[in-house]
Amino acid sequence: MSFPLHRPRRLRRTEKLRNLVRENRLHPAGFVYPMFVCPGTKVHEEISSMPGIYHQSVDQIVEECREVESLGISGVILFGLPETKDARGTSSLGKDGVVQRAVEAIKKAKLDVLVITDVCLCEYTDHGHCGVVENGEIVNDATLEILSEQALSHARAGADLVAPSDMMDGRVGALRAKLDENKFQNVAIMAYSAKYCSGFYGPFREAAHSAPLVGDRRSYQMDPANSNESLREVAMDIEEGADIVMVKPALAYLDVIRRVRDNCDLPVAAYNVSGEYSMVKAAAAKKWIDEKRIVLEILTGIQRAGAGIVLTYHAKDAARWLKN
Ligand SMILES: [Zn+2]
Repeated sequence: MSFPLHRPRRLRRTEKLRNLVRENRLHPAGFVYPMFVCPGTKVHEEISSMPGIYHQSVDQIVEECREVESLGISGVILFGLPETKDARGTSSLGKDGVVQRAVEAIKKAKLDVLVITDVCLCEYTDHGHCGVVENGEIVNDATLEILSEQALSHARAGADLVAPSDMMDGRVGALRAKLDENKFQNVAIMAYSAKYCSGFYGPFREAAHSAPLVGDRRSYQMDPANSNESLREVAMDIEEGADIVMVKPALAYLDVIRRVRDNCDLPVAAYNVSGEYSMVKAAAAKKWIDEKRIVLEILTGIQRAGAGIVLTYHAKDAARWLKN
């Protein structure tokens, strides 16, 4: 294929031509918008490190979900900021927990928005780890029972999908079994399959008040240097019954998204995490970058890497920009 017979620029001449041959098109239907639910009413507090993202009480969450629906975004994923925390994350289980109440309220409002719940302990434990701690160690199997109970309580509240983010071994199987035993076989599992131990979660920890008090998450989240291991995590989650697999974070892991896409036939999601969002917002505030252009380029890149579903704090802005 050589010049002058072939001229790739021929198809780049006009927007009509470029549009005709475009390989990837962003659509709000592929977006999931993360939200933080807190106790109280009429609470709407901006998270300082994440401009435009709020801690909100249930009533406010429902209002923002109306907006999410009107923008054609497919779903929201809910994270809880509970009233109380303890060693085992007990406040994550109750029918009256913040997430459970938010799910119920969104469902009651009959909004055409998928409700996904994050299933983990770190937002609910006083030590901030994603599992139960015994003698300084995050113990795997004891954590599974609590996670399954939490997922069940979300399903009872009406969640369409549950999304375990803890990275304990065997959690997908444990959740699937618990949901099926309780006749929630239609509640799907979106597994955070390849979740890396990443510095890009910084702003989220402020948002979810979930930074570990002691130690770090290296004994359960994946080492950023590993790629083959992501395929193993994905394969295990599929075997245990995952319906959607996820790679998290997105930008420093586009190669992982591509490998996962090429090696499985389930829908693949990627989480465009808080640090990725905050860097864009900070640079945009300083007018160093064109926010709209950068965000759409980032989301396109994540999709091009192989993620058909993108969890992103930019979802509402991007959906608006795509409409115009
Ligand atoms: Zn966690």
